[in-house]
Amino acid sequence: MSPLTVVTGGSRGIGAAICRRLGADGHDVVFSYRAAAARARETVEAVRACGVRCEAVPADVADEDGVDALFAAAASLGAVTGLVNNAGITGPVGRLVEVDVSEFPRLFAVNIGGVLLCCRRAAQVMAPGGAIVNLSSGAATLGGPFEYVHYAGTKAAVDAITIGLSKELGPDGIRVNAVAPGAIWTEIHADPDRPARVGAQTPLGRAGEASEIAGAVAWLLSEDASYTTGAILRVAGGR
Ligand code: NDP
Repeated sequence: MSPLTVVTGGSRGIGAAICRRLGADGHDVVFSYRAAAARARETVEAVRACGVRCEAVPADVADEDGVDALFAAAASLGAVTGLVNNAGITGPVGRLVEVDVSEFPRLFAVNIGGVLLCCRRAAQVMAPGGAIVNLSSGAATLGGPFEYVHYAGTKAAVDAITIGLSKELGPDGIRVNAVAPGAIWTEIHADPDRPARVGAQTPLGRAGEASEIAGAVAWLLSEDASYTTGAILRVAGGR
């Protein structure tokens, strides 16, 4: 039987690369998106071209009803074996003293609440052998000064959730890990030059590609990582 993996935020960026990579690895994939329906259709077609099943669900991960709809769509295909909590936003960009705090509740609801809601639902339905991978960020340990202290805080929470849940769910045979990317070429950056600027400061001298994060996620979901849980895998060009 094929693995069946739920991915949040699969219409664009790293999430789309993860869906494509998992399809190539033989996973059936059910993913959520928020608004980008045309981009979601492109991901669905690319994944189905790998010969696996793929469905896209318009569902906000910050909303419990949306999470229920996502997992109901997955359940209609079979038993969920994997979850990738990829959906995330940066919130306002700038120094903490200057940013618009009215965006904070939404930031916390998506980046922290969404991860908790999806992990909770996955843990309720997964059998032993299941695996969860959360998208953290290098900012969780670097702190995101001058641009993203508030975002960095949400990603540090993702690290804590990952480590804590790995202990809660380990006895149930479910592994929980995180990937912490460095600067990756996607549309999440308000300044499109940011990946190049940050990437130039890494030992590898460049920003990363979404496919390079997808490879790490695929490994953590795979049997090759069967003794890995509670890990925060930094994929950041050495930064
Ligand atoms: P993008 O902005 O390129 O894509 C975000 C994806 O998440 C889209 O598919 C979007 O859907 C979806 N999404 C956003 N909010 C929600 C929501 N509330 N409910 C459901 N889906 C949602 O981001 P990236 O690919 O760059 O980032 C992916 C993850 O990686 C994030 O968690 C991010 O914090 C993390 N990360 C990224 C880094 C980078 O340099 N790119 C570095 C470190 C971490 P739609 O298209 O419909 O809007």
